[in-house]
Amino acid sequence: MKAFKYRIYPTRRQRDALQFTLDRNRELYNAALEERREAWRMSKISISYNDQSAQLPEIKEIRPEYKEIYSQILQDTLKRVDKAFKAFFRRCKNGETPGFPRFQGYDRYDSFTYPQIEKLKGKPTVSIENGKVVLPKIGHIKVKQHRPLEGKVKTCTIKREGEHWYIIFACEVEAIQKLPHTDLSIGIDMGLKHFMTDSNGDVVDDPRFFRKSHGRLKKKQQRLSKRRNKSSRRKRSAQLVGKAHKKVRNQRKDFHHKEARTLVETFETIVFEDLSMHHMVKRPKVKQDENGKYLPNGAAAKGGLNKSILDAGWGAFIELVKHKAEWAGVTVYEVDPRKTSQICSACGEEGEHKDLSVRTHICVHCGVVLDRDHNAAINILDRGLGRSPRETASPGTFRGAVA
Ligand SMILES: [Zn+2]
Repeated sequence: MKAFKYRIYPTRRQRDALQFTLDRNRELYNAALEERREAWRMSKISISYNDQSAQLPEIKEIRPEYKEIYSQILQDTLKRVDKAFKAFFRRCKNGETPGFPRFQGYDRYDSFTYPQIEKLKGKPTVSIENGKVVLPKIGHIKVKQHRPLEGKVKTCTIKREGEHWYIIFACEVEAIQKLPHTDLSIGIDMGLKHFMTDSNGDVVDDPRFFRKSHGRLKKKQQRLSKRRNKSSRRKRSAQLVGKAHKKVRNQRKDFHHKEARTLVETFETIVFEDLSMHHMVKRPKVKQDENGKYLPNGAAAKGGLNKSILDAGWGAFIELVKHKAEWAGVTVYEVDPRKTSQICSACGEEGEHKDLSVRTHICVHCGVVLDRDHNAAINILDRGLGRSPRETASPGTFRGAVA
């Protein structure tokens, strides 16, 4: 588990709502504590969490303001009391004479917790949207997220420190098993034919299940469009489509996590193309005949390509690698992607522009023959390490097969 703490900037009204929530929970905490202390003092009866949480509906009837507080927060507060008492009884059992758990004053009781963020259905309990945290029953509060969240958000705590308010996300993050320092560097070309090709010539493909689930999704969507509005069948179809979308999203996420982890665990330096400098879609050039008439250039095929590009989600993947790399102390560079396909990685000479359909790099200057993406990946690595292809093309370090 790892905590991500961000400062939030509530408006005056929101600050009042936060403080109100905090006050009601402190009150509940102290009341629950009192009940347990009395039961124990009077008759050595130990009251359980379940006994106390079963009273929450009644409390809300008597004190309607408790209805304004998200239920799970109240439950969490009772859990805190439970924890304090369990620790107390443990120490009693160990032969110690501990003091009773203490009542909490304004200054000491400074936080409340949403104990369950992920929901079976729909949006998580607390989310960040457009620079604001969305808290149920409180509202959208401005947040300064100086670094991104990582892993699965488990719980979320709102905390007051003096005048300031913070939000703390407790996340489950995977442990990265870094290999011993290897000094290995890798350049990576992200592509359509293969998800990625690296400068060693290794290839990772999109898992085939993307395409499979995609087909299934399409069928479901077609069925949906045939349903009458508001019919229960339509509703059911819509649910199925939603579910299928979610499944594809999760599969892709898992795939990205796995590949990103492998990279970070294996290499010390990872070089990508800088996607922001150059749209990844290497657009087919507009071709005109001698009369200025436009010729077909595979633009129709591009529609399909664009979809694949969205699917592959390269940008999201690179971001993921960067986060994991930060943890593992691995360096990630993003380099100018221009002409990585044309330039020969073996001799540095610039060849002709290659259409996307041309899969092989054949150099007319030095005779090297390489897979197109492999050639690009080597160029990407060389740029990341700040060396020119010619420097590395000295005899002995020559890479790739020679025709
Ligand atoms: Zn060459």
